[in-house]
Amino acid sequence: MKLLRVIAVLTVVAFFTGCATNSLTGRRQLTLVSETQAISASAQAYSEMMSSFAVDNQLNNDMATVKRVRDITSRLVAQAVQLEPRSADWDWAVQVLDVPDQANAFCMAGGKMAIYTGLIDQLNATDDEIAAVMGHEIAHALLAHSVEKMSMSMVTNLGVQALGTAFEDKPLVLSGTEMAAAVAITLPNSRTAEAEADIVGLEIAARAGYNPSAAITLWQKMNALNGNGPLEFLSTHPAPATRIQGIEANLPTMMPLYQASRGQRLPTWPVN
Ligand SMILES: [Zn+2]
Repeated sequence: MKLLRVIAVLTVVAFFTGCATNSLTGRRQLTLVSETQAISASAQAYSEMMSSFAVDNQLNNDMATVKRVRDITSRLVAQAVQLEPRSADWDWAVQVLDVPDQANAFCMAGGKMAIYTGLIDQLNATDDEIAAVMGHEIAHALLAHSVEKMSMSMVTNLGVQALGTAFEDKPLVLSGTEMAAAVAITLPNSRTAEAEADIVGLEIAARAGYNPSAAITLWQKMNALNGNGPLEFLSTHPAPATRIQGIEANLPTMMPLYQASRGQRLPTWPVN
């Protein structure tokens, strides 16, 4: 009987297994949740997370850094919206998390972003490097990688639930909000997703007037810092040894975009 239940759950998974072709990459992605569902779960997860950082007095304490991050992200988002018009409907937001020992940053489905002070201070990051890391994060959201990761973890969760039901009678299912948080903060991206986010992130930064070659110094600094102990950011953004070469190979296409943007009045987009 229990085996039948396992089969039933797996059949449900198979039935709902959907794929969608991403408009920016042309790659087919697993989509068990809609982007609308992912965005609403992410918004809730973000709001809970930010409340808890506020309670711990770790939210936006340094106004100069907050202004710096807001200025950079509002220029990046203006370009993101050009590249992917569906993101114009997102309620974009960014917060600076005052956690000096954590070098991390994320952008959830729907444009909810955060950067940890550890990333800025430990890397001694320039504006171009902050734009490189946030451009990369925004690219993950535009490319619907969060939807894809959520779908993958749903398959895993339903599998775990089925096994739990079969062997322990203890269902282990993450709520949509828990899943949204896990997807943004702890679950690694695939290497395919990383390579895609690198290229789209370079383009966003270059068009927003940030030197795309800063992506190289950014990853070099990350790798150097990782030598002192595992870096949170690298655990969610697995970096193949070939990452910097991939970025270098794309610079000849990206540098003219950057050069064209210089001296122009660049658009900004409201970021809460
Ligand atoms: Zn990444």
